Amino acid sequence: MAILVVGSVAYDTVETPCDRRERQLGGSASFFSLAAGPEANVRVVAVVGDDFAPADLALLASRGVDIAGIVRAPGASFHWSGRYRDDFVERDTLETSLGVFADFRPAIPAGWHDSEYLFLANIHPALQAEVLAAVARPRLVVLDTMNLWIETTRAALLDVLRGVDVVLLNDSEARLLTGERSLAAAAEAVRELGPERVVIKKGEHGALFFGRDSRLAVPAVLLPEVVDPTGAGDSFAGGFLASLARAGVGRDHPDAPFRAAMVDGTVAASFCPEAFSVEGLLQRTPSAAERRKKELLAAMIP
Ligand code: AMP
Repeated sequence: MAILVVGSVAYDTVETPCDRRERQLGGSASFFSLAAGPEANVRVVAVVGDDFAPADLALLASRGVDIAGIVRAPGASFHWSGRYRDDFVERDTLETSLGVFADFRPAIPAGWHDSEYLFLANIHPALQAEVLAAVARPRLVVLDTMNLWIETTRAALLDVLRGVDVVLLNDSEARLLTGERSLAAAAEAVRELGPERVVIKKGEHGALFFGRDSRLAVPAVLLPEVVDPTGAGDSFAGGFLASLARAGVGRDHPDAPFRAAMVDGTVAASFCPEAFSVEGLLQRTPSAAERRKKELLAAMIP
């Protein structure tokens, strides 16, 4: 089983109440693919500029990520910069500079059109739609987005949502997209836009699943220290989709494996905020992940 992802491969400048890091590896597709893990067979479609360090591409490749769909174009790599407030949760975007993504037309490498799983990571919805159209018959299509695209490219986003099976949003994005205050009402309204299943991420408060005929609330893993939460949502998606792909789950399956994937996504996401950039994900070991999963399940069902 292969997971094809289109999303940003970027440099991020991040400021937290404790520290600041300039131009470190980030981007929705980077966090997603590293969190999905080396066994997940992740194929990345993206573009980087001529300023992108070969060592950063080599890092992804060394972790089993197939980077054959990452093209290099003349110009600057996507750059995002954000500043966290004192609670390490609220953040302000200081700059989003699309760089080479502005003129990017995704080209899917030969042999990738039959990928079974498709993750349309946070990027311009027109790029998400192009990749969706190019993949023949995926078993499952999952989409993530953010406030920028909801506000500035709403029509294109609504268009691509019609072809999506599962959408991941954070709570403020769900409210922004639907105009509903209640998250349950927002999830219902999102379902009317196309996706049968909806995940609403609530950061350190966990994530909610609205399935075909069930609902689930999964708490976040309680971390002793948070360093940089950037990418936690994309990391959740990586763990979530890797779990579904491992089990061969498609859109016609019942809710049970999706509920299990909520737990795997939560565990994967928990490694991200422990360090800057992708460092926390790189430090994850299978035994640490297993331990956290046991702790999480124990916290949910005493
Ligand atoms: P998260 O913290 O999960 O929302 O993900 C943050 C990551 O998303 C950062 O690494 C950014 O480079 C990337 N990102 C931020 N804004 C955008 C955007 N407008 N389009 C694509 N990727 C973005």
